[in-house]
This record gives sequence, structure tokens and C-alpha cells, in this order.
Amino acid sequence: MTSIRTRFAPSPTGFMHVGGVRTALFAWLIARQSEGVFILRIEDTDKIREVKGSIAQIENSLDWLGITWGEGVTVGGPHAPYLQSQRLDIYKAWAQKLVDAGRAYADPYTQTELEDFRDQAKAAKRPFLYRDHRPEQPPTWNGSQPLRFRSDPKNYVWKDAVMGELSSGPEAIDDFILIKGDGFPTYNFCHIVDDALMGITHVLRSQEFISSTPKFLNLYEALKIQAPVLATLPYVMAIDGKKKLGKRDGAKDILEYSKEGYLPEAMMNFLATLGWNDGTEQEIFSGDELIEKFSLDRVQKSPARFDEQRLLWLNGQWIRRLEIEDLYERAVDFWPECAQQASKDAKTQVLTLVQDRLKTLADLAILSSYFFEEPTPNWAMVDDNKQLSKLSRKEHVDLLRTSMNELSSGKFDSESVQTTLNHLLEVTGQKPAILFSLIRLGVSWAPFSPALNDTISALGQHATLDRLQQSIDAA
Ligand code: GLU
Repeated sequence: MTSIRTRFAPSPTGFMHVGGVRTALFAWLIARQSEGVFILRIEDTDKIREVKGSIAQIENSLDWLGITWGEGVTVGGPHAPYLQSQRLDIYKAWAQKLVDAGRAYADPYTQTELEDFRDQAKAAKRPFLYRDHRPEQPPTWNGSQPLRFRSDPKNYVWKDAVMGELSSGPEAIDDFILIKGDGFPTYNFCHIVDDALMGITHVLRSQEFISSTPKFLNLYEALKIQAPVLATLPYVMAIDGKKKLGKRDGAKDILEYSKEGYLPEAMMNFLATLGWNDGTEQEIFSGDELIEKFSLDRVQKSPARFDEQRLLWLNGQWIRRLEIEDLYERAVDFWPECAQQASKDAKTQVLTLVQDRLKTLADLAILSSYFFEEPTPNWAMVDDNKQLSKLSRKEHVDLLRTSMNELSSGKFDSESVQTTLNHLLEVTGQKPAILFSLIRLGVSWAPFSPALNDTISALGQHATLDRLQQSIDAA
């Protein structure tokens, strides 16, 4: 396999959301699998839209996911600089080549004149094309007028590595701006120059650029550059599949997920399988497996749906797979206040118990606080429970009393506790869904907890009896 060079080329206009990061991930994967290079280039030519701090935010997001780049703004590389605003001379020189070859010209029109052309086209029910108004004798380009491409409108048929064969007619091609009046190049122009100079072999980007591709093909020809492999990634849609992912559906800063207790492994797994699968039923993929198995021809052509429940499920799966020491390290910032003073051993014991139940590391607060501090009885939780609400308060209290009796003697390791609990089922004639739920609430007053025998064995006999008594007192 020849070495693939890909780039991720975000504009520094704010935080990174799932769609953008997925593009970066796919580009990184195909570079990694050919032992090629993944480049981070920052496209900061639209100074008005720029948001301060975005570059660090982009780098931190990729860092968190373990998407490493071999060349880029902070790491440098053979094609530096990787910040487009520092490459203006390069674009100017390439623009001049086009001027010299008669393929670019200075735009002589004022805004009002351009508006008039647009209005005329509208009145005539024709699509507006700038090239219909190409000036016969354009002025010499002095850098202060917009520079336009003298296009060569024609039909195109091209192959997109994801979308397959695509085609367009001459109407898709116009004399677009290469360099704006402020001296900054347009995206349409400078990304092509940079991709060529940086030796990019595969361009992966979102669906929004597909309608501009005929223009790009036309410019590649004018510049005598061989076009790289083009791969268009379908949009990421909201779960209903009807609209593009918006803030309310989870299109938030990817780093927010880190703060909410998601693991980067789970996020990478989730992003990779947003519109890609390996053709089997496999759902869990590590980064290494993805590098081995990912391929552009298995990226689906239709938009992917962003299913946050699936992300949550994957996160739980990844948490389960962690070694306990590793989980301990990652969970450091997620303990509830009441656990701050607890020893590492005590926390590790709790982690062992709750590991399988954590969907996010943030669940630790709810799932663990009752191990470190006495809960406040909240009988409303019993009344809200479908099964438990069938019994009267007196029956609840009687059941807890009987449980206290049985639990007050005998050994308290988790196996012995299980034996006692089984015996309690016989004595009371209750179903586990009733008896165990009641005891669970009676000792934890938490919505869920690990296996009951493990939970009360970890609490110890004294605390268990104490809490049951307090719950009875509060009934
Ligand atoms: N700067 C463009 C963006 O942020 C990059 C598109 C591309 O990858 O070529 O959307």
C-alpha cells in the first residue's frame, strides 16, 4: 500500500462537534493504516468568523481522542507553516501564475453593479452566473480588487471514494473568487494549493462541499494539479434522521463528553461506527482494530444518525473493560464530595462493585455516595416503585424488621449474605423484585446499586443494621 497523506483542515470558528471530529477520525484512520501521515492544518482565512482559543480547543479535542498528527501548527513539519494566514505569499504567487496564464482576472465591479446583475438574472428567471458578465478588458490586478478564476465550464464525471460516481454540468462552474479584496484567499482556492503542496493524497470532508467539487476539478485542471482522491462523508443527522444534528440533539463540544464522564475509547468507537461498519455484527472496536479494519468503501452513502443512547451503552461497555487501577485513575475527578477523604483501598473496593453499572464516570456520584455517608431515607422512592407501591407501609416496615433479624447474625462476606437473603425470600414468601428492592433502598436510598449482597457486605453488618433501623424510624 502506498503511503497515504490526509489532513484535517478545520476553520478556527469555535468548538469541535461530533461531525467534525468524525471527519478527522476517518482521515486519521486511513493515514495510520498505510503508515502515512495525518496533518492538522488550520484554515483561518475568514478572520471575521474566527473565535479566539479555537486552535487550542481543536488540538485538545483531538488529543483527548488519541488522534495524533504528524504535521501541524504546533508540531511544524516539512510544509510549514500550517496556519493559512501565514501562507498568504504562497497563495499570491499561485494566483499570479493563474493571472499570467490568462486564467484569473481582477473583478472590476462594484457591489451595486453585482447586485444589478443578480437582479437581472432573477427577473429573467435565469440562474445568476458571474461568467455571463466577464469583463472584456479587466483591469490589471493590483491586489486590492477580488481576483476571479476564469473558469472553463464543462461536464464532469468523477469518482468519489464514498459516494461513487458523480456528475455535473457546466452550470455548476462559475468564475469564483480566488483572492478577496482584503488579500485573503478563499477556501475554494487555498485548500487546493495547500493540498497540492502538502502532498495530500486523500481529501475527506463533509457533504456540504459536494456541490463545489466541479469548481475544484476545474481549478485543478487550470493549475495542472492531479486531483487527490475525494471522499465525501454524509452528514450526521439527529436521531429522527430528519434534520442535521443541532445543539439540542448532542452537537456539543466534544470535550463536554469528557467532562460528563465519557471515555475517549468509547467516543472513538462511537464516531467510527457513525456511518461505518466492518460488515459483521461487531460493535466494539478499539483504536487499533479500527486502524486495521476501517475502509472508505464501507462508509455508508446515506446520512448517519446520532444516537446518544448508543454512545452511552458503548461507554458502559468500555468502562467495564478497564483494569481496576486504570478505572481508579480515570475516575479521580468524579467522586462525590463525601468520598474525598476515603482511602484509595476503600474507593477501589467501591469501584470494583460499581464498575459494571457505570454508564459514565459521572454516575459514580450517585452510585457510590451511600458507601461513604449515611443516606437520608426517602420513602417517596418506595412509593414511586411500581412493585413496592403495591404493599402498605406496615408491610414494608415488617419486611425490613424481618430482614434486620436475619441479617443480625452470621457471617457477612458477600456469599454468606446471599445465603441469608435467599433464606429471607423463603421466610417472607416475597419475590426478589420486592424484597431485594426494598432492602436496597433501605440501606442506600439510591435509584440503583450493585448486587445487593455485595452492597451490604461492603457496607458491613453494623452500618447495614443501623441504616435499616433508621429507615424504619423514618417510615
Ligand atoms: N475549513 C473547512 C471547514 O472547516 C475545511 C473543509 C475541508 O476539509 O476541505 O469546513
